[in-house]
Amino acid sequence: MQPFTGSFTQQEPVPEDAIEAAVDVMRSGRLHRYNTVQGELGPVAELEKAYAAYQGSEYCLACTSGGYAMATALRALGVGVGDTVLTNGFTLAPVPGAIAAVGAEALLVEITRNLVLDLDDLEAKIKATDPKCLLLSNMRGHLCDMEALMALLDRNGVPLIEDCAHTMGAAWNGRKSGSFGVAGCFSTQTYKHMNSGEGGLITSDDPVFMARAIMLSGSYMLYDRHGAAPSPEVFEDIRLDTPNMSGRMDNLRASLLLPQLQALETNIDRWNARHDLVADRLRRVDGIDVPDRPEQESYVGSSFQFLMPEANADRMQQVVKQAKALGVELKWFGANIPVGFTSNHQSWRYVEAQDLPNTDAILAGLLDMRIPLTFSLEDCANVADIIAHVVEQALQKGAA
Ligand SMILES: *Cc1c(COP(=O)(O)O)cnc(C)c1O
Repeated sequence: MQPFTGSFTQQEPVPEDAIEAAVDVMRSGRLHRYNTVQGELGPVAELEKAYAAYQGSEYCLACTSGGYAMATALRALGVGVGDTVLTNGFTLAPVPGAIAAVGAEALLVEITRNLVLDLDDLEAKIKATDPKCLLLSNMRGHLCDMEALMALLDRNGVPLIEDCAHTMGAAWNGRKSGSFGVAGCFSTQTYKHMNSGEGGLITSDDPVFMARAIMLSGSYMLYDRHGAAPSPEVFEDIRLDTPNMSGRMDNLRASLLLPQLQALETNIDRWNARHDLVADRLRRVDGIDVPDRPEQESYVGSSFQFLMPEANADRMQQVVKQAKALGVELKWFGANIPVGFTSNHQSWRYVEAQDLPNTDAILAGLLDMRIPLTFSLEDCANVADIIAHVVEQALQKGAA
């Protein structure tokens, strides 16, 4: 079998029009978002306006990172020291990190075989504790039944913040991910759906919440220079009570993002063509389970996950190792020690240790792979063939 030679961490170049816009910002010297002239909407404000429109939300705030967006959303909702925040047992470290940033306690909720929040466990944990909110992580782009979730949260009076780092552009029943709860939080870090190196966005329809978030981001009372902010009266009551926790986006990053937002829908189609090719090929392999994608879900296939439910730890390690020897980078979420971008709740020692037997059993058989747009469809077919080959080999050896 020919090894694959593509790079799983190589993203596409920033588009030429974005490079030109960024060079213009640098030539102007006006990189700070509030360094505008009278009546001018700078690139950050333009981005907020454009992203609010894309998302179909009233308000949008651009900030420094996805993690900052989540911590700011928690603070703006009034979550603080000692409060309980529910979140997925399967997510990445910036999520429990955002909860830790506000001094709250993460209470982890089990996931299902489809890699989404287990709504029964969620309801049991809501009843057993008095959570301030649910920080839902749409981990690896898998959406739970959002209507059932909202009914459950409404019934119990629990507000929702959505971590949409992997669902920018995704939807449930035609409604954009990030528009279900009080706020949606997005990341524009290099490995997400738009790339400004680092960056974050918060969307909301709640004026007081958004006014607080804007004050927290460090607006120096210049909130009238925002692109999608509530009207100045809304700030009157909260402006002197809300601290400045500096985390603004700058004009350079926003200028990189504006043209990428134009290209987002096209890129989603390109990701899904690649994702679906791999998924269709691997669904037919014995020993591999591909999570279901309900018909209500419009996903963005920027990564691919599969389960090997029958394999033990040795087999999983063997698959990872042999795939790697053939140039295919798979991440195993069952490992005890976090490697690269994988992370398992047991390695978050700042969170109280919690029993998640179902999640642990699922993660023990879960493999994950990035799908960068620098891969052609042919590359994706090669990658899928290599995975099929190493899985078949590992399972044969397992039987012998
Ligand atoms: C990347 C990521 C974030 C946000 O990350 P930043 O690097 O802070 O922008 C949040 N949640 C998940 C699941 C992520 O993968």
